[in-house]
Amino acid sequence: MSGGEELLRSRGLRVTRPRLAVLDVLSAGGHLEVDEITRRVRERLDSVSTQAVYDVLGALSRAGLSRRIEPAGSPARYEARAGDNHHHVVCRGCGEIADIDCAVGEKPCLDPNIAHGFEVDEAEVTFWGLCPTCQARRSADD
Ligand SMILES: [Zn+2]
Ligand SMILES: [Zn+2]
Ligand SMILES: [Zn+2]
Repeated sequence: MSGGEELLRSRGLRVTRPRLAVLDVLSAGGHLEVDEITRRVRERLDSVSTQAVYDVLGALSRAGLSRRIEPAGSPARYEARAGDNHHHVVCRGCGEIADIDCAVGEKPCLDPNIAHGFEVDEAEVTFWGLCPTCQARRSADD
């Protein structure tokens, strides 16, 4: 049994070729847009609709096998690194995204002073800045 099959079964999901293909694409790492995931899945399987990829991503996310992030101004992206409450740093120049480990490691890693009676279960932290490539480009432009 492949690693993907085991993962799917361990979460009670039926093993299908599209699910295995999407898991495989995500396991290569990174934060991928649906278009990119669909393109890579089609290199593995002939006919997969974009809707089918969305359905698979939804099922994997609900099962905790993928995580969906959507930084402001960027389309939704998916990654295989799920369940560890890590954060992201996003480049204002090119949209590049990198992982930042959470110092605390579990949700919510920030406590509001006053929660207005809410039971808080998550603090969504996004760091913004310039990636090394954009910094180099900026210095070259000076
Ligand atoms: Zn950049
Ligand atoms: Zn990430
Ligand atoms: Zn944190």
